[in-house]
Order: sequence, then structure tokens, then C-alpha cells
Amino acid sequence: MVDVGSCNSCNLEVLALANPFYDTTRLGVFFTNSPRHADVLLVVGVPTAEMREPLLRAFEAIPGPKAVVAAGVCPISGGVFAGNPGVLGPVGDILPVDVFIPGCPPTPVNLIDGLLRAAGRSRSEEDA
Ligand code: SF4
Repeated sequence: MVDVGSCNSCNLEVLALANPFYDTTRLGVFFTNSPRHADVLLVVGVPTAEMREPLLRAFEAIPGPKAVVAAGVCPISGGVFAGNPGVLGPVGDILPVDVFIPGCPPTPVNLIDGLLRAAGRSRSEEDA
């Protein structure tokens, strides 16, 4: 996960994925200490000018095949921070985004659904 400028609420929802209730390790979803060991780049927050380079470096360090998931309205559209001079705009203008997870913040269930969609393992996709 890379936080490119969040208010921290999205981070709290993401952290909940590791608690005993959601426990996403049972689904094979967990966080890595290095992007070199990751399959998915999860982006939270609104992209700021200062975080553009670290975000690109994290993306480039992930070996392919890889996916980018934008979680929350901030990386999708800028959210409540859109138009701020320090905001670059949607993360989709910086990186190719595979899955968008709306919400402010998205719930842990929304996050799990989006991450499983990125892995092609979403039941809701099968039903569609
Ligand atoms: S989407 Fe909402 S909760 Fe998440 S970082 Fe932006 S303002 Fe905060």
C-alpha cells in the first residue's frame, strides 16, 4: 500500500483487513514489506506532487504481472481535495488503474471485494 496523501481514515479501514474479524490472510491477501514481493499496488489518498515520484518508484519495483487498485474517492477523483493547488489529480492520470473502489472511506468489505477483483477472484464478477 502507498498512501499518497490520505486523511488516514482509508488507512484505518485497510488496517482492519488484518484484524481477526476480516483476516484476509485466509484469502491469500496480505501486505509485503517491499514492493518487490508484491502483486498489487493499493493506493489510498489524493496524489500530491511530493508523492508522485515515490508512487512511480513503488509501481516500477513490483514485478509483473501486477495490478493497481485505487481505494477511496481521493485517488479516484481527488475527492474533497480536488482543485487544491497541492493535488495532482486522479491517480489514473499517473498510473494505469485496474480496479477502483469507491467510498469515503471504503469499508473493509469493499476493499476485500476490490482486491479479489484485482486478482480475478471476485464472486460478484462471476455473477455479473
Ligand atoms: S477517500 Fe475519504 S476517507 Fe479516504 S483519504 Fe480521502 S477523504 Fe479520507
